[in-house]
Amino acid sequence: MSDPAPRLAHVGIAVPRIADALPFYRDVLGLAPGHPEVADGATIVSLAFGDVAVELLEPRDPESPIAKFLARRGPGIHHLCYRVADLDRALERCRAAGYRLVDDTPRRGAGGRRIAFLHPKATAGILIELTE
Ligand code: ZN
Repeated sequence: MSDPAPRLAHVGIAVPRIADALPFYRDVLGLAPGHPEVADGATIVSLAFGDVAVELLEPRDPESPIAKFLARRGPGIHHLCYRVADLDRALERCRAAGYRLVDDTPRRGAGGRRIAFLHPKATAGILIELTE
């Protein structure tokens, strides 16, 4: 029980085109965007706000979760990612407490990180990603 406290890791924002969203972060706020990565059918560009990142998520294919989100809700906050000390144990606790999971076991996300998503019904309508 001496694990470090969970922290906010990143906020994922769904956008139709990263090229249209990026100038605010790059030119107005002066942030240096990370190299684009691909995960879950989306291109991801990360912007560091200290320890926390904003990830711009642009769909690469119309069947991807981000494309479906944009079609249903338009651009906006897609998910929050919390960093926990032990992802496997966090998922065990979720299961034990009856929280619905999108990913029953951890998988690889952007940057090769181990991640798992919880179902938004379990978490006040917010899609939550857990990572280590
Ligand atoms: Zn994420």
